[in-house]
Amino acid sequence: MGQRRLPDRVALGTMHGKETVIAPPLSGLGIAVVRADLDTDRFGTFAGDVPRAGDMRAAARAKALAAASLTGLGVGLASEGAYGPHPTTPFLPFGRELLLWHDTQSGHEIIETLTDSQPNFEHETVQDPAAADGFLRRIGFPGTAVIVQSAAGAAPIAKGVTGRDALDGAIRAAQQASGTALLQTDMRAHLNPRRMAMIGDLALRLAKRLATPCPACNAPGFGHLRSLPGLPCGDCGTETGLIAADLQGCTLCGHETRIPSKGSADPAHCPRCNP
Ligand SMILES: [Zn+2]
Ligand SMILES: [Zn+2]
Repeated sequence: MGQRRLPDRVALGTMHGKETVIAPPLSGLGIAVVRADLDTDRFGTFAGDVPRAGDMRAAARAKALAAASLTGLGVGLASEGAYGPHPTTPFLPFGRELLLWHDTQSGHEIIETLTDSQPNFEHETVQDPAAADGFLRRIGFPGTAVIVQSAAGAAPIAKGVTGRDALDGAIRAAQQASGTALLQTDMRAHLNPRRMAMIGDLALRLAKRLATPCPACNAPGFGHLRSLPGLPCGDCGTETGLIAADLQGCTLCGHETRIPSKGSADPAHCPRCNP
């Protein structure tokens, strides 16, 4: 039994050039990525002027479905990112990225995710253009673009700024409006090379996963679903929060395999030995 056929063409909903990193890994599987000229901003923006509807998965699914419908292709593809404070170290930035494959005929959905603990996601408040120099150096301006607001939550005065004159003008306009300018890294993929590289990593993972057939039904895309905690303590055997197994599965037929972690947990992580 050969692997169930992958489509020749899939639709990618993007207006931020993501095809440049998503298409190459998929072309290795004989899949051409067709860019759907979708106004993805209507599904939510990083600048916050359009709120995102639902969670990352729902937002990516909406874009993938719109891309499939726009192109008439059976499979839609979309990526979604979310950036904010680190979950355990709130003064550090943290990013999550998701790439979703949705087969509109079968409903089969394959999702790859990754986290970035060193994203190019920063903001700074400045009083005048000259004060922006340090921030601009840190973020790699103009390779990474800037968003200028008069205050957090205000409509951006300028987005995607990659020219110093335009930036200085926007800073002065913000100053006139509120007395200060809030600068942020633009997180749109074509304006943030770090983020684009993360999406490229996700595309590589997706390609590898698509090349892995389900051992039960032969559908493409068998792979990691989630990590299961509960690795037993090496001293007393109590379940700890460490990963006990990798749950791999097929999202078409539901077949799942547990790959147990090796060894046992250091008692330092044990709620009984080290409460
Ligand atoms: Zn299966
Ligand atoms: Zn223990």
